[in-house]
Amino acid sequence: MYHVKCIKCNTEFERNEVIYTCKKCGGLLVVEYDLSKIKLKREELDGVPLSVWKYRALIPVEIDPISLKEGGTPLYKCDRLAELIGIKELYVKHEGMNPTGSFKDRGMTVGVSKAIELGMKAVACASTGNTSASLSAYASKAKIPAVVLLPAGKVALGKVAQALMHGAKVIGIKGNFDDALRLVREFCAEEEFYLLNSINPFRLEGQKTIGYEIADQLGWSSPDRVILPVGNAGNITAIFKGFTEFKDLGFIDRVPKMIGIQAEGSSPVVEAFRAKKNDIVPESNPETIATAIRIGNPVNAVKALNAIYDSGGFADTVTDDEIVQAQKDLARIEGIGVEPASATSIAGLKKLVDTGVIDRDERVVCITTGHLLKDPEEVVGICGEPIEVEANIEALKKVIFPDLP
Ligand SMILES: *Cc1c(COP(=O)(O)O)cnc(C)c1O
Ligand SMILES: [Zn+2]
Repeated sequence: MYHVKCIKCNTEFERNEVIYTCKKCGGLLVVEYDLSKIKLKREELDGVPLSVWKYRALIPVEIDPISLKEGGTPLYKCDRLAELIGIKELYVKHEGMNPTGSFKDRGMTVGVSKAIELGMKAVACASTGNTSASLSAYASKAKIPAVVLLPAGKVALGKVAQALMHGAKVIGIKGNFDDALRLVREFCAEEEFYLLNSINPFRLEGQKTIGYEIADQLGWSSPDRVILPVGNAGNITAIFKGFTEFKDLGFIDRVPKMIGIQAEGSSPVVEAFRAKKNDIVPESNPETIATAIRIGNPVNAVKALNAIYDSGGFADTVTDDEIVQAQKDLARIEGIGVEPASATSIAGLKKLVDTGVIDRDERVVCITTGHLLKDPEEVVGICGEPIEVEANIEALKKVIFPDLP
């Protein structure tokens, strides 16, 4: 029903082989389905509760999955924020509502299940934070050890806390994410650890269910655009694959334009898009408040650029100030709490509406990738500490009604 294939030279590999890139040319791998052999009918999905495993017929795992009940995240209709931005129809797909608070759980339920299916006894990843939190939790559930490499001092506190509490071996690398990823790839090539960064094509098979769910939640239709942050560039690739498969199966009649947003200080994919190139020039010193997308050499860049070009999409940058403003707007106007990287989708939407790239009558879905609780230090940094007062009613009223005599 499916095989693993190189996107560059089309070489096919055995599905039970432990490989992450093409053995012939080093190209990225993709899991490809023979959709004509998929028996699934759309009607069979109606009424079934949302979850990653609702779409099991299209997920390349044979064993009973290692699951913490991931997916099934809310798709909020955000009329007040839509009005503020000046657009007709806006939805926010809040991936922060997954078990460990980010969309990485969709990838890990599939990736860790695959590790077990392949007989691997341990797992590893490099991470800007959320991948490590998610991998640690799923490795615990699967009863196997996990090693996670983080850029020392550059990971949001909530994410480190999760990885530590779930019992992974948490290692800070004196370098950035790109250094950590290079190291863990080397480590997994030499030792029997299954690599679960998004270079692993099975992880993306879990994340493609974001696209499935949006189509499902919109009553088997596609929005005009899907906007999301781009870091290592796996998620935009995966979501586009999800929509494309549903279109090829006849479940929806078109795919959305894919819009990738990066932070100004960390934007190799946007630079490539602006230069109309199919690959990136790595950025050696990426910097942004949105630590989840502080990545200078995204491994899935080629796939992501394909998704953007093939869908007639777009890519743009936003500043850290725009990210913080969007994070506040979402929290204060819609009650949706997200981490900084996630707010780039809203900041990007606002910029693209203001610059006329997106029409005001379009139907747009923004993906918010991670939960507000992930990065409490950033929140205190931008909102300040709570006010402290003496424990009496006069002092209390004075801070609540500062203008009274
Ligand atoms: C991982 C992550 C991203 C980036 O996703 P990629 O697939 O690496 O492009 C964005 N936001 C959050 C919160 C993340 O955890
Ligand atoms: Zn190849």
